[in-house]
Amino acid sequence: MVQCTILTVEDEPAISDILRVNLGFAGYDVISTSNVLQAENLIKTSIPGLIILDWMLPGASGPTFAKRLRNDKRTQNIPIIMLTAKALEENKIEGLNAGCDDYIVKPFSPKELIARIQAVLRRRLPELTEDVVSIFGLFLYPATRTVIGNTQEITLGPKEFKLLHYFMTHTDRVLSRIHLLDQVWGDHVFVEERTVDVHVRRLRKALTSTGFHKLLQTVRGGGYKFISEKTHQSFP
Ligand code: CA
Repeated sequence: MVQCTILTVEDEPAISDILRVNLGFAGYDVISTSNVLQAENLIKTSIPGLIILDWMLPGASGPTFAKRLRNDKRTQNIPIIMLTAKALEENKIEGLNAGCDDYIVKPFSPKELIARIQAVLRRRLPELTEDVVSIFGLFLYPATRTVIGNTQEITLGPKEFKLLHYFMTHTDRVLSRIHLLDQVWGDHVFVEERTVDVHVRRLRKALTSTGFHKLLQTVRGGGYKFISEKTHQSFP
């Protein structure tokens, strides 16, 4: 199971407990908050893998918070599942229009919630699923934390593995150091940008014997880019 932190925003303690127990049992790290302000403070330092959001909360409402997250470049890609007692069609439409990826009505089945979380993560954050990723002859197996390049096993440290997983699921775009800190380290405040360079260097070194280091390019003044077969058909 790939590590994923789920942030819950729920002011009803009984439901918050059900979420914490069931999500924890399913293997997720859970951070529970009871209002938007608390959730916002946490997100300032660390981006969660997914948010379970109640609608009626003290202070700002769930949809207001979802809109705020979608309007901020740093948080716009966090998957959000709205979990609410509001069951009307117009509520669902409003929730989805606010930027939520899914909408679940209370009372809910914890099993269904977990299935929906997995579906949203598969769609939105492929680096947090166990799906095998491959580019050319480079294969990454999240379930066993194995990387095979041209039939040769490549040994990587935990951070390099996570970094490669993120690169391979986000190819052909420039990824800034801050973006990588947020997405791979989950923290862009306390970790320095040059940490990214250190781990990229280690990753490249590990990939060199198979030639796949060529797919990981440095973009001057921008960050890093991982090339897929779509844009680099002649490789290797
Ligand atoms: Ca509530």
